Amino acid sequence: MFRFENRLRTFSKWPFADGNKCIPEKLAQAGFYKIEHTNDGTVCYYCEKELDGWEPEDDPYEEHKAHSGRCPLVEMFSSKPPESVTVEQVIDLEVARIKYLAKKMIEKEKQQIMNFVEEAVKELGECSES
Ligand SMILES: [Zn+2]
Repeated sequence: MFRFENRLRTFSKWPFADGNKCIPEKLAQAGFYKIEHTNDGTVCYYCEKELDGWEPEDDPYEEHKAHSGRCPLVEMFSSKPPESVTVEQVIDLEVARIKYLAKKMIEKEKQQIMNFVEEAVKELGECSES
């Protein structure tokens, strides 16, 4: 899905066509591909942000930026989405994507550990009270 053409191909059935802002080309340029068996469910390949409920006048890149400003694609092309990318940019984006997703996974794991510790401390407190 790092290839624009592959993302674009997932939008064979899309509710809006030319004349609207929210069209397959713009969605694929903004990093999105369509989730199978949904009407308008999309996922960003780079940050895994899921967005749906698209309106014809939504600008996919602006929506992406508003809902996931730290996405590697959004950060690399901070003013507007790329019309085309160089091989070097594709490689840099892949590296940034892996770092971003690893960081997200570590944060999630950290939160689970924190919750576990908080729960254990609470239980210890309850034990010493009785
Ligand atoms: Zn993203």
